[in-house]
Amino acid sequence: MKDHETVPPILIERGEGVYLSDREGNKYLDVISSWWVNLLGHNHPRLNAALSRQLDKVAHVMFAGVTHQPAIDLAERLVALTPDNLKKVFFSDNGSTAVEVAVKMSLQYWQQTGQGSKRKFAHLKGAYHGETLGALSLCGIDMFRDKFEPNLMANVEVQGPDCFRCPYELKPESCQAECFEPMHQTLEKHKESLAGVIVEPLVQGAAGMKMYPPLYLKKLQDACKAHNVHTIYDEIAVGFGRTGSLFVCGEHDLNPTFLCLSKGITSGYLPLAATLTEDEIYSAFYGEFSEMKLFIHSHSYSANPLACAVANESLSILTGDDFLENLKPKIRVLGEYGNKLNALQWCGEFRQTGMIAAVELVANKKTKEEFPFEKRVGYQIYQEGLQRGALMRPLGNVIYFIPPLVISTDQIQMMIDTAYDCIQAVLD
Ligand SMILES: *Cc1c(COP(=O)(O)O)cnc(C)c1O
Repeated sequence: MKDHETVPPILIERGEGVYLSDREGNKYLDVISSWWVNLLGHNHPRLNAALSRQLDKVAHVMFAGVTHQPAIDLAERLVALTPDNLKKVFFSDNGSTAVEVAVKMSLQYWQQTGQGSKRKFAHLKGAYHGETLGALSLCGIDMFRDKFEPNLMANVEVQGPDCFRCPYELKPESCQAECFEPMHQTLEKHKESLAGVIVEPLVQGAAGMKMYPPLYLKKLQDACKAHNVHTIYDEIAVGFGRTGSLFVCGEHDLNPTFLCLSKGITSGYLPLAATLTEDEIYSAFYGEFSEMKLFIHSHSYSANPLACAVANESLSILTGDDFLENLKPKIRVLGEYGNKLNALQWCGEFRQTGMIAAVELVANKKTKEEFPFEKRVGYQIYQEGLQRGALMRPLGNVIYFIPPLVISTDQIQMMIDTAYDCIQAVLD
């Protein structure tokens, strides 16, 4: 709050494509897609039109005993576009809630199938799954949970992949996801009490865009199946094309028990979320009224029709006209041009997964020693970025790029150049 006295919040008035502009007419490249939600750019004519078409019909109606065509269409499309085992969709209205829903469904499933001792979840160190108390109980970042620790559910935190500082000192070429061992041990030890394991597939966003190989997910799937434990994929950040394919699970032939989606689902227009699951889970909630097997989780704005209408239009764009094919050259440029950041003496690592990239700044390239957090390196770079027309929002010492997918290759180069200049201006 004290920062705002010297660096007031930017008053954004308009958005157009990958740019935001403030009241004074300054333009900023939206390097982080307005917190990772925007896929198709701001003020998109087709999304605007879809929204106003629905607005002329009905803006909102409760989603209990009532349904509407935009939700029906969206549910059918999500089922068609995700792995075959995912057949049922539960709508809500934000990412944390999509996770809460998966967690509650998993717990209730085990209760109603006579395995009520399964009440804990395993999550990775560095994990981020939202900030409501339930989702926070799955968080592996101290800063978010410290103050609330006594109020959180007792779950199990597991050391996961840490490719930049790999404790096994492996290189991508030789890596066989040896770092799965701690998870393997956790599953062995806690299989009786574990309901599920939750992961952010391939990219741990809030941890600083930490990236790890799909082999880890394959091992996790096999081990969870063997130990009778659910897998929950939180694709809230990586879903809808960020990694270059529509969903990580589909791309890598993985079949999570639950898939949580939000953020890009409406391309950053409106809050909406979905939790997908299998027939097996659904069937445990099916029964006579008197059995009270139902899943009770209702939000006022679940499956809001405006949001669903925009989501449907966004999906039409993402799945049409070679949209994903056209990402390939952009992904190549982001990787090749982004590599230039390696030349900086403070660049510990430049990493990339599809349309997500990050540079981890270090005080010492050899030892990978971190900058002290009091130095606020990221915050200074953020301010420098504003002066140079780029809205970045570093995570600690990690400067990352998760721009709207509609960014052009020229704009990608400009984005990298700006980051390069900002880092140099601050640290030189
Ligand atoms: C943003 C995010 C969430 C939480 O979503 P909200 O809509 O902000 O509640 C959960 N998991 C991941 C991986 C996220 O990136």
